[in-house]
Amino acid sequence: MANALVWFRNDLRLADQPALQAALSARQLPVCVYIHAPEEEGGWAPGAASNAWRQRSLEALDADLRARGSRLRIFRGPTLPVLQALAATLDAEAVYWTRRYEPEIERRDTAIKRALREQGLHAESFNGALLFEPWQLSTKQDGPYRVFTPFWRTALADWRTHPPSDAPAALPDLEGDPHGIPLGTLKLLPARGWDAPFWQHWTPGEAGAQEALEVFVDGALRGYRDGRDRPDRVGTSRLSPHLHFGEIAPWRIVAALEAERRAETGADIDAFVRELGWREFAHHLLHHFPASTDANFNPRFDGFAWAKADRRALEAWRTGRTGVPIVDAGLRELWHTGWMHNRVRMIVASYLCKHMRQHWREGARWFWDTLVDADLASNTLGWQWVAGTGADAAPYFRVFNPVTQATRFDPDGRYVARWVPELADLPVPLRHAPWTDPAGARRRAPGYPARPIADLAAGRDAALAAYRALRESA
Ligand code: FAD
Repeated sequence: MANALVWFRNDLRLADQPALQAALSARQLPVCVYIHAPEEEGGWAPGAASNAWRQRSLEALDADLRARGSRLRIFRGPTLPVLQALAATLDAEAVYWTRRYEPEIERRDTAIKRALREQGLHAESFNGALLFEPWQLSTKQDGPYRVFTPFWRTALADWRTHPPSDAPAALPDLEGDPHGIPLGTLKLLPARGWDAPFWQHWTPGEAGAQEALEVFVDGALRGYRDGRDRPDRVGTSRLSPHLHFGEIAPWRIVAALEAERRAETGADIDAFVRELGWREFAHHLLHHFPASTDANFNPRFDGFAWAKADRRALEAWRTGRTGVPIVDAGLRELWHTGWMHNRVRMIVASYLCKHMRQHWREGARWFWDTLVDADLASNTLGWQWVAGTGADAAPYFRVFNPVTQATRFDPDGRYVARWVPELADLPVPLRHAPWTDPAGARRRAPGYPARPIADLAAGRDAALAAYRALRESA
């Protein structure tokens, strides 16, 4: 039996695994490898929370492989020479992997594929992450989409189901070398155990992903359309880190939901699949507009008068000490769990970019380091959308009022009480805006900031004035 390298990346699963399937279909012995090379990710090497997740996901993948007779062999980059040396040592015929779409990685992988082929190896990559490849859908003028609705309309018209394929029951493995290095030597875990509380909320790995899907299908799916906006409830799937690390294929999720389609679940399923559509759209944009990770998608904003980076204010935002309860709740949820509810992501991002007028990149970087689902495509889209600088963005002049948002989406103040417990004793209207009764708030929540670091009315006015100035200068 000839050997083939199956190069695992952000596809840490055995079901719906086209690279592994390719080796098995060609009757080759799959040698499963993971190569650690963060320096090849350009300016967006994985952050601390991502690394912590990856450690556990790699452990889970190795255990799943071992349960089938194989194992994961870990190496340290640079990637190309490692693949070449492994292929030579093992006399491998082929190298298979599933695609990643971050611009720096796309460039690297194209070069790797070329070099391996020049060496006479069969090098082949597959789609393992998306319902549609980023280049698959195009406008009537054959260009990329910049607006979600027509993108999604085309996607739905072009819909093809990918049938799920189960993990192989058993796998052959090499006898002996090369064994690779122990996972622990990659030092993926953050210092001082910052991530320890995360794992009450998450189970990285394929089994954890499947379980999250089942919990969602049995629970929050019914009512998702409205429930998805409520941070005070479990109203969403929490599948985002599992999707980012490829622990589950999106088409397996779609198939599980479609199996639940009845008159009463149809609207919820459609709403959920549409959210997966935003993930697809994010990848489409990142592929076609690779500079958007750092530059304004809309160059009109290049002259926008962001306030000077304010270290003290940024630190208050990051640590959940802005004095705006829903904003602080979101940032503390992020710090303690590695995740934040989507509605609250929008609120905290809006407060940073509009009221505090700090550059969206400051927020994007913080999310990048602290989110377990940090994903270059979705994070870039999310931040530029809220900042008003992005594709299909909320118009800049639409400034989220955090108190109105909190009143609407956390009506009983439960979300705020959970993450900002020092406010739990305040009655609800006050819990969302403690500065409106300074004496009462000081008495009941003495440790909490007395006033927002950026006043809601003044911050909004200043943001709109900066926007007007930009428009007038155009
Ligand atoms: P569900 O509501 O259950 O949605 C199901 C899946 O659809 C998600 O797992 C996700 O893969 C996808 N999805 C849902 N909403 C969006 C969206 N707006 N954009 C893209 N995909 C979406 N998502 C990330 O996965 N990684 C990020 O780094 C990220 N950064 C963000 C930054 C900002 C400022 C904002 C506003 C949003 C960001 N999002 C990001 C999108 C969204 O907040 C998360 O995908 C969602 O909260 C994940 O929770 P869930 O799995 O329970 O979502």
